[in-house]
Amino acid sequence: MTDKNRTVIAVTGSDGAMGGEVVSHLLESKNDFELKLFVYDKTKHLRGFFKSLLRKGRGRISIIRGDLANYEDVFELVKDADYVIHCGAVIPPKADHNPLNTINTNYAGTCNVVDAIHASGRENQIKLVHISTVAVYGNRDYHHMWARMGDPVMSSAYDYYSAAKIKGERYVLESDIPNWVVLRQTAVYHKYFLANNMNDGLMFHTCWNAPLEWITDRDSGLCIQHLVEKDLEGKLDGFWQKDYNIGGGAACRETGYETFNFGFGLFGANAEKFFDPHWNIPRNFHGVWYTDSDILDKWLDYRTETSADYWRRMSKELWYYKLGALVPSKWIRKLAIERLLTNSNAPMNWVRTGKKGRIDAFFGGQEAFDKASHTWQDFPVLAKGQTPDGEINYDELKDESKASAYKLNHGYNEEKPDTELDLQDLKDAAAFRGGQVVSTQMNKGDLYTKITWKCHNGHEFEARPFTILKAGFWCPECCEALPKWSFDKVASHVPFYAQVWYDTHRKDEENNEYPYDEHEDDDLLKPVEKLY
Ligand SMILES: [Zn+2]
Repeated sequence: MTDKNRTVIAVTGSDGAMGGEVVSHLLESKNDFELKLFVYDKTKHLRGFFKSLLRKGRGRISIIRGDLANYEDVFELVKDADYVIHCGAVIPPKADHNPLNTINTNYAGTCNVVDAIHASGRENQIKLVHISTVAVYGNRDYHHMWARMGDPVMSSAYDYYSAAKIKGERYVLESDIPNWVVLRQTAVYHKYFLANNMNDGLMFHTCWNAPLEWITDRDSGLCIQHLVEKDLEGKLDGFWQKDYNIGGGAACRETGYETFNFGFGLFGANAEKFFDPHWNIPRNFHGVWYTDSDILDKWLDYRTETSADYWRRMSKELWYYKLGALVPSKWIRKLAIERLLTNSNAPMNWVRTGKKGRIDAFFGGQEAFDKASHTWQDFPVLAKGQTPDGEINYDELKDESKASAYKLNHGYNEEKPDTELDLQDLKDAAAFRGGQVVSTQMNKGDLYTKITWKCHNGHEFEARPFTILKAGFWCPECCEALPKWSFDKVASHVPFYAQVWYDTHRKDEENNEYPYDEHEDDDLLKPVEKLY
């Protein structure tokens, strides 16, 4: 039973990496919050950290065991809440191994959260904080390291996690509930990071030269604590019904290569000692540097830790780091890294077993894989100022004050204030996406009344101007059908996507549509095709 005098906060994914920190911070708030924590009913063992939170919050925490994919469970969670912090999601590597569960949780689960708020009879009181992901931006390289809200939303092929999160985010953006905000969470440095990554081929999905703007788990928790506190103090006027990027800022911006060097640096060696360059995929991952993550920091004042702070913290807290520093690096390479090359989620395993779809999507085909450098002497490392096209000034590329040179075109006049945007701006945006606006009217500045649009394939769909112009979505059939990735085809008709797609894809790949020729995936996904 909830106490009517207390603010009730419901948290999904409460025992996860981010959710746990959210709970921890909410318990530290000067406000005496009541917490309803959603825990997946098939989770058998709760982590020690989560159990310690339950002890700390005794008397003001209640647990709801259930499944996000089950509407009744979700309704029980949200019905009497004042805030719903929706962090719950299946994330990689688990998401890579179980597409069906991923889609059910990340997409259908989010639909359930929104629908339950809608049906609660309290939709004007409940505020939804939906945690989305940087993975919605898909793959980037040195041509366009910087991203911002409104950039193309494009899931990387075979990334069931982002595909389902994208559909979930769209459901929130297009919903009729009045109080929502979407936070696109960047990659999180969390306390389970090494344990999760040292057991799966996921480790090889990080591109050496992809941009990554990290945030620590603690700062993510602080972000949510401040959000609720400031909202209760009446300081978030104008904050809701928007989409924001969460990121740690300049001191958290790296490439994959630098991240590995940070991590393995604690063992006294750099990434090159432990890996061959071709073990990791060169494209079709995700990660960006944000030009606009400071907007959310201005609202919520959450940045306190850098990447270096996180690694210092881990080196003190984790026993295997202390032990690892004593073990010769060639043993670590052999025992910890090389053994994962045969894992079903490892790119080298896809190459070895001839998974053509994945070889095409991640490497650009067998020929491109064979041609790629297999030694560090020949492999261009962006963090050293090297690209396949020659030398580059990496410090300058990283300089935020020069990032506007890499700004993507959103297809309409962004100089105008939102209140001045009109039908012509929507038409311009639609044309840049290869399509058109079907609706003949729009109230100037109204970004939330739905408009009918048509894509280059003739699909008509309804969407808010906000969803298209400000959040970077487009045709749900061409761009978000599950389980299908068609951006090779779409980009050849849509300049909005082409401006970034061809940074890492060739024009002669235009007929590819993923997934293909993978029978085990087909079997897994048959039920998905039936459901959606
Ligand atoms: Zn379409």
